Amino acid sequence: MAHHETLESFLSKEEDWIYRRQKGIPNDKQLFVLTCMDERIPVEEALDLELGDAHIFRNAGGLVTDDVIRSAALTIHFFQTREIIILNHTECGMLSASGDAISKAIEEKTGVTLSEIALDPALENFRLSGADVHKWWKMQENIDETARAQVEALRNHPLIPSDIPIHAYIFEVESGNIRRPGEIHTVKTAIPPGKR
Ligand code: ZN
Repeated sequence: MAHHETLESFLSKEEDWIYRRQKGIPNDKQLFVLTCMDERIPVEEALDLELGDAHIFRNAGGLVTDDVIRSAALTIHFFQTREIIILNHTECGMLSASGDAISKAIEEKTGVTLSEIALDPALENFRLSGADVHKWWKMQENIDETARAQVEALRNHPLIPSDIPIHAYIFEVESGNIRRPGEIHTVKTAIPPGKR
């Protein structure tokens, strides 16, 4: 509790934090961030975010999937989110193999046939058709093109309103800086040298 703050004011702020969703209070920057699960991306430092600022979705590659659409649609339509940022990065593991190689390896490791399994334990009919198995991994070849494609995928989705700004950036693990897709100019971030 701050020195000059009254108990009532303190409790009121606490309640606003705890009951944000019930009270319809948005995250502080009304922002949805999609980024990779990679441990080298310090999302908050790279985008100058603090706890409370954004809804952050991380998956392999920072790629638009059905659950990204689900999450973005919910935060936009019910929690007042008004902006989307996609943060892809250099040296991403999603650039390291082809989709069919991944499928083959996974089927060997697990003994399952990918086209026959339910993807979501709660949705038994949510399966891959045979033709889409290799594409489902969403392996990529060029991270700048990937970043642009993710923007387009969200921009063109009917559940994402057309007036929501959507921008992509590339986090460079080599320098700890970020840049726009396809551009050389980088912006320094507050990443400590040992974590670059
Ligand atoms: Zn990655």
